[in-house]
Formats: sequence, structure tokens, C-alpha cells
Amino acid sequence: MIRAIYLFLIIAILALAGVWLADNPGVVSVRWGGYVIETSMVFLAGAALIVALFLSILFSTYRWMRTRPGSWGGAFASRRRGRGLDALSNGMVAIAAGDADEARRAAIEAEKYLKDEPMTLLLAAQAAELNQDDRAAKIYYDRMADRADTEFLGLRGLIERARADGDLAQTLIHLRRADDLKPGTEWVLKGLMEILLKQRNYEDAEAVLDRMGRGKSAKQEGVRHLQAVIGYERARLAKREGKTEATLSLAEAAHSADPKFVPAAALLVQSMGSGRKRDKVISNAWRLNPHPELKVAIKDLVLAEGAQEWLARAKAIMLPSAPDHRETKIALARAAFDARQFGEARKYLDDLSKNNPSVTVYRMLAELEEIANADAAAARNWIIKSTEAPHDPIWACNSCGAQASGWNAHCPTCDTFDSQSWRSVTPPREEDGILEAIVVEEIPAQ
Ligand SMILES: [Zn+2]
Repeated sequence: MIRAIYLFLIIAILALAGVWLADNPGVVSVRWGGYVIETSMVFLAGAALIVALFLSILFSTYRWMRTRPGSWGGAFASRRRGRGLDALSNGMVAIAAGDADEARRAAIEAEKYLKDEPMTLLLAAQAAELNQDDRAAKIYYDRMADRADTEFLGLRGLIERARADGDLAQTLIHLRRADDLKPGTEWVLKGLMEILLKQRNYEDAEAVLDRMGRGKSAKQEGVRHLQAVIGYERARLAKREGKTEATLSLAEAAHSADPKFVPAAALLVQSMGSGRKRDKVISNAWRLNPHPELKVAIKDLVLAEGAQEWLARAKAIMLPSAPDHRETKIALARAAFDARQFGEARKYLDDLSKNNPSVTVYRMLAELEEIANADAAAARNWIIKSTEAPHDPIWACNSCGAQASGWNAHCPTCDTFDSQSWRSVTPPREEDGILEAIVVEEIPAQ
């Protein structure tokens, strides 16, 4: 409708112009070179209109020829694009199939036809990886990281490469850049955490953990445990630097993050001043996780304590908190034995040998027979029994199996973070010879 009105208006204006020109027939004179052309204004206007119409039809026709499907230029470009896309999909299939040669051939072909496409770079990088050409892969990932549309993907490749090379510093640089680009990406945060922990940068690791633990996952047991481990390591560092207040507050935070984590509980107990608050922490920690390391921390609170006093204090702490726990009975048996309360020690040990026998339990029974009853034969029997007994728990790495006398944030053997668990490990049978040697050594001929 609007088009019709426009057309009508244009025709009306043209008609009016024609009438006006017919009423005012001027003369146009053009002098050019040796020629003089004289004509009327009506003729000139008509000629100009015809030329303009002709040119516009010519241009439209040209444009139609260029862009219609199957035209000369369009056909050429789309044929190249089709070949490029074929090469890309062949390349992706080759990569999935692990065919390194075909992947490289396809990458070269794709590069020829689709030079500036992001997918071409990705295919080239992956083909280089498959051909174990690390240098070429790095060059392609670098190029991807330089383009806004493939920066993140390129960084991911560079991170994998740097990690495979064992270059912690470079991995960290790429990870930080990826984190700036897409803050909060889960795999980036995990990667950052891993590198920072390897570098023992616990302060930055804690900041990353705070970001990871936001929202629902903040209450997850795994996150809370990690907070405790990292907090404990920071507290230990503060203690080494003589920062008493920082040690206490960090140990408190670590203990409240995971009250069952023994190293943090032991450090907190040692860092607190005596008083009811500390007594409460101690009894609570013993109730949640009775452990030999916690016992040592509690025992060391009183310097030069007599054996009788320690026995009384240990009973007052441990019996109300975890009366039936194996570690309570072992700790009290040892305390009673040292206080020469042999009857009481035997009571705990008899119970343990029935319900929770272990190497330590049988060896303590042997000691008891030897010291309390001077019965070397009975002692020898307990020692022999101990060679078949289940082993006492120890800190053992879940990654490499190495055993350690104390807890370590990183396994001393394989450097895996937080890999040690407190558990009983059965040694291989070759150790039988060593156990026989212990028997001979502990029971000297009389
Ligand atoms: Zn290990």
C-alpha cells in the first residue's frame, strides 16, 4: 500500500515536472571541443532519465548474476568451503580413531581451504598432538590463544602441554589467564588448586578453595576436610615463624572445619592455654577420633608428670569420651603399666586380646608377663603370637602405599597431597625373617 503511494507520488512529480518543462521550454547549449550542441531542456531531462534507468538495470543484473545459487563466484567459494568442511570432518574422525597420518593430511587440507576458521586450528593442534609433535601443537594452541574466539580453548591446550612437561610455573600462568577469562570454571579452579598445593602455596590455595566451596558444596565433607588440611599447614607455618596468635586462630579454624582430622586437633590442643575451654576441646576430640597422636599431644601438656598422675588424668579424659574404643584401652593399658598398676593394665590388655588383638597388644602382654610375673616363657609365647597378629594402624599413602610414622600433607614418597590414611597394612610375607629376629632380640636368654 505504502509502495503504491510512493509510486503514485513519483509519477505525479514526474508528470508535474514534464508539464512545467513543456510550459518553460528553455534551450541548453553545450560547447565541447569544436562542436556546439543545442537542445531543449525537455530532451536533456528525458535523456538523463533514460541513461539512469539503463545503468540501474545493468547493475541489478550484474548483482543477480554474482549472488544467485550456482553462479560463477558463489559456486567457486562454496566448493572450496565444502572441501574444507569435508577435510575437517575427516580429520575429526581420524583423531577419534587415532589415525595420526590421516589426521595430519586432513589438517593440511583444511588449512588450505578454511584458513581462518577456529576449527581448522583446533584440528591442526590435535593432529600435531596425535603425531606427538609437541612443538607444533604448542604453536597452534598459541595461535588459538591469541584469537578472542578460541582463546579459552587454546589456553586449555597450553595448560595440558605445560602440565605434561612438568612446568609448574608455566601451567600456573596459563591457568591464571584462563581464570581471568572465565572466572569460576570448575576445571580451572581444580587445576589452580593442584599447582598451588604442589608449590606449597597454602595461602593462595585456601583462597581458591573458598571460591570452589561457595554455595552448596561449602558444606560438603570433602571441601571441609580440605579446608582443615590447608588450615593446618598454614597453622604449622605460623608456629614455625613464632606467630602464636595466628597459630591458634588457624588451628581453631582447621579443627572446626573437620573435627575428626587428628593433626589439627593435636595442634590446637597444644596451642591453647589451659582452662575449661581446652578441656572441652580435648574431650570432644577424643570422643570423635581417639588416636595415638592426640594422646601424645594431651600427655605433653603437663611437663614432668608422674606416671600415677598421667594415669589419673588419662582416665578422666578418655573414659567418659570413648570408653570402648581400642585406642582408649591401649593408652590406658600403657599408662597403668608405666604406673606399675599391673592388674589394671592386664584388665585392658585381656579385653583387647579378645576383641581387638594386634602386634602392640601382644607385645604389651609379653612385657607384662616379663616385668610383673617374671615369666619369660609366657612372654615368649606372646611374642610368637604377635608375629601372626593383625598389624596396628599406621599412616599409609593411598596412592603409592608408602608408610610413614607421622601424618604429612604431601606423601614423602610420591608427593601426592592429602593421600595418607590411618589404617592397618598387612606387610608382605618376606618380612617373616625380620619378625623372627625381633623375637630373638626381645627375649634375651636368661
Ligand atoms: Zn605416596
